Amino acid sequence: MTLTVLGLGAMGTALTRAWLAAGHHVTVWNRTPARAERLAAEGATVAATPAEAVAANRLVVTCLLDHASVVDVLDGTDLAGRDLVDLTTGTPAQARDRAEWAAGRGARYVDGGIMAVPPMIGVPDSGAYVFYSGSVDLFAEHERTLAVPAGAKWVGDDPGHAALHDVALLGGMTGLFAGVTHAFALVHGEKDIDTGEFATLLVDWLAACLPFTQRMAQRIVTGDYTSDVTSNLAMQVTANRTMVDTAVDQGVRPDLITPYLDLSARGVAEGQGAEDGARLIELLRR
Ligand code: NDP
Repeated sequence: MTLTVLGLGAMGTALTRAWLAAGHHVTVWNRTPARAERLAAEGATVAATPAEAVAANRLVVTCLLDHASVVDVLDGTDLAGRDLVDLTTGTPAQARDRAEWAAGRGARYVDGGIMAVPPMIGVPDSGAYVFYSGSVDLFAEHERTLAVPAGAKWVGDDPGHAALHDVALLGGMTGLFAGVTHAFALVHGEKDIDTGEFATLLVDWLAACLPFTQRMAQRIVTGDYTSDVTSNLAMQVTANRTMVDTAVDQGVRPDLITPYLDLSARGVAEGQGAEDGARLIELLRR
């Protein structure tokens, strides 16, 4: 198996090492040559220019800083007949632009969204995986190679969908850590509360809450937002006041939780009080 990797930052280096360790022949290029030289010592072939690296192999993987750097690096290369897999993080719109740009140069294109940090790459059972979308033919042909550094999850032929899945999961994580940060701010430094012990309570509580995500999905899919009486939106909004008042009493800014609480209050004001909070996505998507 042979491939080219352009971009040897923390992630590109980890990916390349995983392919080398699996016995693949990897041609590499990096703007700062020292990073490529390090990998030459581990068996990689170093190309002098991006054009030379692209010419070396049909499968070309880019893992650069951002959309602009991908276009910069590939601009002077001949992509005709190449299979371009871009693992650079970007928006769905940027991925679709890149797919069109690549097609205009005679290349097939797949976009990837990496759900891992570099130390997880190439480590069996680390949970690392990459979302892929775009050319199904490219993916079918190279799936075994692509699955070497991390699991490969195909999410369809819209080249923007890998990035959309990636960014949606990051959004979920951001909200989770906003809540976690708020919770620690409330209790840390409080007499007789041990922050480490509190963390265990918080982890258990969040784990108990997470299955509600599936129930939310069911309600969103069916459009049936009928709530069980114990936890409808009106009840939650009433309880939310306690959360803001407690934060203020503790000298903690409620800024991390108020956007969600305000949206819930708007849902009640618009007549959704008897329904489940899952309905709030309709207010967001307007
Ligand atoms: P790094 O900052 O470590 O590396 C960036 C890479 O891009 C380097 O190879 C750098 O070259 C190159 N680069 C930047 N600008 C240019 C340019 N104008 N022209 C040519 N090359 C350029 O980033 P990572 O390796 O960590 O990340 C790479 C991609 O992977 C990003 O899109 C990131 O979002 C994504 N990713 C990273 C994760 C992580 O935890 N690190 C997790 C998931 C995704 P040089 O060495 O010369 O500076």
